[in-house]
Formats: sequence, C-alpha cells, structure tokens
Amino acid sequence: MSDIHCKLLVIGAGPGGYACAIRAGQLGIDTVIVERNKIGGTCLNIGCIPSKALIHAADEFHRIGGSGLHPGMGITAQNPGIDWTKTIAWKDAIVSRLNKGVKSLLKKNAVRHIAGRARFVDGKTVEAETDKGRIVISAQAIVIATGSAPMALEAIPFGGPVMSSAGILSCEQIPQTLSVIGGGYIGLEIGTAFAKLGSAVTIIESEESILPQYDRELVEPVTKMLEKLDVKLLKQHEAIGYSGPDRTLKTIDAEQNESTIAAENVLVAVGRKPSFDGLGLEELALPMNGPFIAIDDRCRTAMNNVYAIGDVTGAPLLAHRATAQGVMVAEIIAGSKRTWNQACIPEICFTDPEIVSVGLSASAAAQQQIETVTGKFPFAANGRALSLGREDGMIRVTARAEDHIIIGIHGVGAGISELSGNFALAIEMGARLEDVAGTIFAHPTLAEAFHEASLDGLDMPLHK
Ligand SMILES: Cc1cc2nc3c(=O)[nH]c(=O)nc-3n(C[C@H](O)[C@H](O)[C@H](O)COP(=O)(O)OP(=O)(O)OC[C@H]3O[C@@H](n4cnc5c(N)ncnc54)[C@H](O)[C@@H]3O)c2cc1C
Repeated sequence: MSDIHCKLLVIGAGPGGYACAIRAGQLGIDTVIVERNKIGGTCLNIGCIPSKALIHAADEFHRIGGSGLHPGMGITAQNPGIDWTKTIAWKDAIVSRLNKGVKSLLKKNAVRHIAGRARFVDGKTVEAETDKGRIVISAQAIVIATGSAPMALEAIPFGGPVMSSAGILSCEQIPQTLSVIGGGYIGLEIGTAFAKLGSAVTIIESEESILPQYDRELVEPVTKMLEKLDVKLLKQHEAIGYSGPDRTLKTIDAEQNESTIAAENVLVAVGRKPSFDGLGLEELALPMNGPFIAIDDRCRTAMNNVYAIGDVTGAPLLAHRATAQGVMVAEIIAGSKRTWNQACIPEICFTDPEIVSVGLSASAAAQQQIETVTGKFPFAANGRALSLGREDGMIRVTARAEDHIIIGIHGVGAGISELSGNFALAIEMGARLEDVAGTIFAHPTLAEAFHEASLDGLDMPLHK
C-alpha cells in the first residue's frame, strides 16, 4: 500500500529535477518531488550561484584595491578591507532568495514537495525517509535527478582544512595559502577568486595543461592572468599527501621528485561522480554508461517509465543541460513527441578572462571529416574591450566550408560569458556566416568581435 500516489515522481530538486517538476505542474501533471537537502540542488546551493557570487566579490576587491585596475587609466586605490563573514552572508542571502523563489514556483504549480531521502523499492515505488517517518510513494513515471558529488582522493581525504568546492565556498576565513588539486574549471574559477582575495594559491594539475579540454589559444590568456595574480601552476604534478599539523601538501612531479607546499587549506577539485548513495538503484539493475545512467534521446532509461536527467546521465555536467532535459521529460510525460535534438550546449569557464565554448572547434570537426572555414577577431582590435581596459582574448567562429553554416563559436575574454546566449542562438537557428555578417551589431560592444570574426570567416574583415 502506498501513502501517496502520483503521475510523476521526481527524485532530486536540483536544476534538472525542479525544472522538470515545475514544467510538469504547468502542464497539469500530478507531480511529487522528493529532496533530501535544500531545494535548488548543487547549482543553487553549493555550485553555480555561490561560486559566481564569490568570484564577483573577489573581482571587486581586487579591482578596488588597485591591482585589478588598468595601469594606464590613472586611477589609484589602496588597502580595501573585506569583512569575510559579511561576504559569505551576502552570498548566502542570494542563495536563500533563489531558494525561496524555486520553492514558491513549485507551490504555485501544485507540485507536492517532500523533504526526505528517496530509495527505490521497485520501478514504480519509492520510499522517502522523512523527519516524520517513512512515506511510500507510487508513481506512473519516475525521474531520477539526483545529481553529482565531488570525487575524493584516497590519499588526501576530505575533512578539516581539506575541502570540496562546497566547503571552500563557505570557509570561515580567507586562507593565507590555498592549494587547489585539479586544474579543471571548478578549481580554476575558485583558485582565481581566492588569489584575488589575497591567498597565495598553488594549482596542482596532473596533465600537461590546465583546462585540458580547451585548445591553447583559449587557455593562454587565462594562464597569463594566473601569472599576473602570482598563482603557482604545478603541471604534471600529483598531490600525494597532506599533513594537517603542519598544514603542508606533498606533491610529486613526472620525474618522481617530491616537494612540499604550505597549504592552510586544500581544495580538492578532481572531478564529480553521480550521486546514487542510498538511492537503491541496484533494485532497478539499469544498464549504465560508465558510472552514469544510460539514457536514450528522450532521457528514458532501460526501464519503462523511469527517466534520468542531469548530472546522473554524464557529460557535460552542467545546470542548463539538466534543466533542458527536465523540461523535455515533463513534456514527454504530458504526451508531447519530443526528442533531444539540441544543436549545442554552451559551456563557460568563469575564469579571468572567461572562456566560452559552443559547438565544434575546427579540430573536433576535422575528426568528424567536416571541412571548415574559420574566422577570428582579437579583442585587442575591439573598441569596447579597449575602453574596458581588457584587450586580452578573441572570438573564433567555425563554419562548414560547403555552406558556411556555423557549427562552433569559441572565445576568451573578460565578460564574454554574456555573449554565450548569442552564440548558442546562432548555432541553434542554423545561422550562416553571411547571416551574422549581415546583422547590424551595436557599437561599441564586445559582440562586434563576433560580427568581425564572421566577416573574417568570409575573407572580408573590416577592422583587421
Ligand atoms: C562549484 C561548482 C560550480 C559550478 N558552476 C556551474 C556553472 O557555472 N554553470 C553550470 O551550468 N554548472 C555549474 N556547476 C554544475 C552544476 O551545479 C550541475 O551540473 C547541476 O547542479 C546538475 O543539476 P542536477 O539537477 O543534475 O543535480 P544537482 O544539482 O546535483 O541536484 C541533485 C539533487 O538531488 C538530491 N538528491 C540526491 N539523492 C537523493 C535522494 N536519494 N533522495 C532525495 N534527494 C536526493 C540532492 O540533494 C540534490 O539537491 C557547478 C558545480 C559546482 C560544484
């Protein structure tokens, strides 16, 4: 006997799960969502939002203190203060405001929220462990949206000064020395922010390059800024141990030389794994895709009426992908004949400068035997970038040689994240280089570099 019966049960209220539940509610589907923690998931509570708030606070502090100002601008400033407790409270207030917003949207759309930990009994039944006891929920369709968790290092377990991204985003004080294990986007975003806040930051990366998924042209401006911020980059190094009493991290390089770094705190950012603990997934014996749940183009698992969305389904582990999958699944359950046919998923690295990657690069296209033309425009020749004192970076457009349809847009530059929507829109709408070239872009804006890169792809650059 079940305590609750519903048409749709969503497990996990991150950007995948809550978006799915809200859309389902809008479509009149009787929906229940179970969340063991705070509504909003990783993204809202301990990921995208708090990290971007602290990155911004760090930018402001760095700029106001003078070191982030363009030397030629004639502005000097000295000794800004930072009340870290207030900064953390400001960040937490943003999180809590969004949190309340999502809660009220669920309510507005008649989604029943159960605070508890869900565990599968079978493919149609879930038990939720709540403060008030166990609730059995049966549903016609179930969506698994339980997200992901940080991977731990056996030799350097989490605890005390050794933190995950969630811990460091709420740390009690700005560490004097911070070692970041992992030169991926999470480690670099947070490492850069703490360097701007005054920590002596060391980044330990086992590969030859930081951000190994991006090409050199995209990564170089970020590396230069890290140098400016005195961030120490230890490439082809591995962290092999941490001593709590003397707060030192031991590393080893490719030649097996060991060294010791002072590290008041350590951020372990070596990747994320799907979150299935206590979920009873074994009851369903679902086929997997590596560690992730295997899904088809409708986010269906191998079990009838059991769907999976978001980080549990693998790369790219991004909030907007989870949301788009969630909305699609709600519409499918409501009877729509939708399939996943997105042309691209934009990826942003909120480093300084920011990196945006949308669609295929020329080399990725070559691997798929697609002949391409590329156009490029540097921010050094863009009036707006110069007037902002940030000429580092560029925008690169990749189009199919046969018909000039744009298949990739990549860029690096201060504030370029705000252009990612334009880039995704161009690719999603099947724009050709000629379409972008024939559009009037407002002057002076950073977006003009996109226009100019498209003109360059057509061999008719105006300002280059
Ligand atoms: C520091 C950091 C920065 C990030 N920055 C960005 C960014 O800028 N842009 C971006 O797109 N992505 C970013 N991400 C990634 C983004 O947070 C994730 O891709 C996104 O949250 C995935 O959404 P989801 O709904 O799949 O899962 P999650 O957001 O992880 O939500 C899953 C939810 O399920 C709940 N849950 C798990 N198991 C159970 C259970 N058994 N019962 C009940 N509830 C359960 C969890 O408590 C959680 O609330 C960042 C991540 C981190 C860590």
